[in-house]
Amino acid sequence: MKIRHSLFFRFFLTLVALGIIPMAISSAFLVATYQVRVADVLGHDRAQELILKAGIQFLLIFLFVFIIATFAAFMISRNISKPLSVLTDAVRRIGEGNLKVKIRVYRKDEIGVLGDFFNDMVGRIRETQDRQEEISRLKTEFISVAAHQLRTPLSVMKWALHAVIDGDLGKVPKSQKEILDKAAIANESMINLVHNLLDAARIEEGRFGYTFKHVDLVEFLGKVITEKKIFAEGKSITLVANKNITGSAIINGDTDRLSIAFSNIIDNAIKYTAAGGTVEVGMQTAESAVTVSIRDSGIGIAPEDKSRLFTKFYRGSNVVHMETEGTGLGLFITKNIVLSHGGEIWFNSEKAHGTTFFIKFPKISSPKSPTNISFESFVGAI
Ligand code: ADP
Repeated sequence: MKIRHSLFFRFFLTLVALGIIPMAISSAFLVATYQVRVADVLGHDRAQELILKAGIQFLLIFLFVFIIATFAAFMISRNISKPLSVLTDAVRRIGEGNLKVKIRVYRKDEIGVLGDFFNDMVGRIRETQDRQEEISRLKTEFISVAAHQLRTPLSVMKWALHAVIDGDLGKVPKSQKEILDKAAIANESMINLVHNLLDAARIEEGRFGYTFKHVDLVEFLGKVITEKKIFAEGKSITLVANKNITGSAIINGDTDRLSIAFSNIIDNAIKYTAAGGTVEVGMQTAESAVTVSIRDSGIGIAPEDKSRLFTKFYRGSNVVHMETEGTGLGLFITKNIVLSHGGEIWFNSEKAHGTTFFIKFPKISSPKSPTNISFESFVGAI
């Protein structure tokens, strides 16, 4: 922010006003007295001469007051503004996220007390932040360990359930198969949850690596849409690719990670749309970027949920009553993947009228496009 009226200017004006206004008033009285009284005694010419002399004296005193006021204003403002600018600089650095700031306090007056309070406050904020970071680290570690531990038994369960369902251990009666199918679906969603938890933990720990190569987004989206058609049909939802998905749009991407990102968005569009609805995937290419849109005719997103949607574990008020399965991790992971590709993600939504998610990627010729740079650099970008 720019300083418009400096402390020096304010002090200077105040001191000059304090010195000069009373002098100006008293000199006006003096001139009036000289003119009336002295002229009577000494004559008009002599009185004029005396008034001129007094005027010169006053002018010199004005000049003196002016110089003293300038000097005093400079000294006072320097005394206050110097510690203030140190404090301002410290506050600015805290605003930029540097909590290691400490100001040197060498005064015992009010400004010194302010400096002490400031250092205490920063120290306490730093302690709280350190504690929160430690809690967050332990939480991530716990999630990671728990998810790892769950992975093996869930895989064994999956293998065992499929062995029974497929009849490897003998024919299974229809009534039992139905129950086993339900168990297999529940098992699959548990495995998905574990994968999401592991991905979120890896993102937080900076271990979510990328291998970039040239990807034709048109071809890639075609495959994703074909895979998702079965899920959509199972829910009686029409999943279509817009006609404008033609030609080629080459980006630098990691197909495994892109697959997670697009799956999350298309799965959500299907999940949060009632039977009979539509999900349409479109694409727009510009000179340096390509934007994919996923539009659904679903339940929409409430305005109060919009700002927190990409936060970890956040599920909107729109779905809490729907009893659909979900973890609130999909959009968090998706956003991280998109950002690591140098892209952007946003959405438009109207409650009960549907939602459109947009994902924009730089094309390979664009300066923003990620190249095969080191894993650490990408971790830093998250
Ligand atoms: P979840 O596992 O709950 O789907 P996500 O992170 O994928 O977690 O999504 C977070 C929340 O965003 C969802 O719980 C839902 O409230 C909202 N949401 C995401 N996509 C849509 C959509 N297409 N339509 C309506 N709500 C959506």
